[in-house]
Amino acid sequence: MRFSYSGHKNASMIWEEIDKQLTELGQQHALRRRRTLASPCGVEAEFDGQKFLAFGSNDYLGLAAEPALIEAARQAASKWGVGAGSSHLVGGHMMPHDQLEKALASFLCAERALVFSTGMMANLGIVPALMGRDDAIFADRLNHASLIDAALLSRADHLRYPHNDMAALEKQLASSTAKRKMILTDAVFSMDGDLAPLPQLMQLAERFDAWLVVDDAHGFGVLGKNGRGALSHFGMKMHPRLLYMGTLGKAAGVSGAFVAGSTNVIEWLLQRARTYIFTTASSPILAATLLASIDLIDQGEARRAHLQRLIARLQQGLANTRWNLMPSPTAIQPIVIGENEEALRVAEALYAQGIWVPAIRPPTVPKGTARLRVSLSAAHTVEQVDRLVNALRKLA
Ligand SMILES: *Cc1c(COP(=O)(O)O)cnc(C)c1O
Repeated sequence: MRFSYSGHKNASMIWEEIDKQLTELGQQHALRRRRTLASPCGVEAEFDGQKFLAFGSNDYLGLAAEPALIEAARQAASKWGVGAGSSHLVGGHMMPHDQLEKALASFLCAERALVFSTGMMANLGIVPALMGRDDAIFADRLNHASLIDAALLSRADHLRYPHNDMAALEKQLASSTAKRKMILTDAVFSMDGDLAPLPQLMQLAERFDAWLVVDDAHGFGVLGKNGRGALSHFGMKMHPRLLYMGTLGKAAGVSGAFVAGSTNVIEWLLQRARTYIFTTASSPILAATLLASIDLIDQGEARRAHLQRLIARLQQGLANTRWNLMPSPTAIQPIVIGENEEALRVAEALYAQGIWVPAIRPPTVPKGTARLRVSLSAAHTVEQVDRLVNALRKLA
């Protein structure tokens, strides 16, 4: 329904443009559509009145509907209520929030951690709190949208280097005259599944006196010893110039994010990160549930070993077919198709067989690289991965 503004000359300008752009998006097969799930997050998803085998969530360890966590949430609701009531600095910081920060710092062998409501908010808070107009940010071209927006919001110079190109980054750093420098990178690239060369990035950060901010949304819980993430995967330790950010809505199965680092920089973020300060603290239920989730991650070797078996199974199953899996060692296993229309066609063909794999299109990925983003979870069985492989082989 549309209101009539017939009395106002030119008033329709404001929506005619949007109508036109929406039509164009439709013509480019770029309109996004949501599926409304009638089931909890899991490998069997129900929507449109049907059940599907799902390969679309980032619930890599299968914790989102884990009974032990549901029980932790129930108990937390009884003990703490459902809402925090105000922001952390005003009066909403409760014991579960505090315990979660301490548990994360201890799990990661970091001096201190700060918990944000989402990963988007963490990145939008961290970067502008540390960088400003006279500074320069060096960012991988495939970084997540939240890191791109964080850099823009900071008003610092934003230099983007070709994906994982250390020589290009080194050149940019060497020629910079900025007061302060920061290197920003995904640890596991969210649409490709490959890793950033963190040891080399750390060396460059040292050499050019820069911060290194690592966003490990897809590595935390999955990679490294006990799921400690990408730093552990590379045998790296925390360092005063390193900020390690992770999210809690993916492998951790709940919602939220954190940044870990040395005491003073975390204190500074607490004082200055606007997305931490000017927002209501997240529900204590989430914090208490996450405390239980960290334990399951810590003890999750069997889940992680099973996930690795599934990754190998998918890779072997699709080897020597027309389906090009990107070279990814993680749970994110994208199949690059190319054009939007073709990617949608393959996704539709799988859908017709009761298999749900999201087609990812620009602007989420570069033009001409539309893909099926297969995302595996420890909750999948070998048979379920085989079902996907067989369906794809038949389509090839
Ligand atoms: C998902 C994601 C985020 C955002 O985290 P949310 O908690 O979902 O807001 C940030 N960075 C990367 C790399 C991500 O994949």
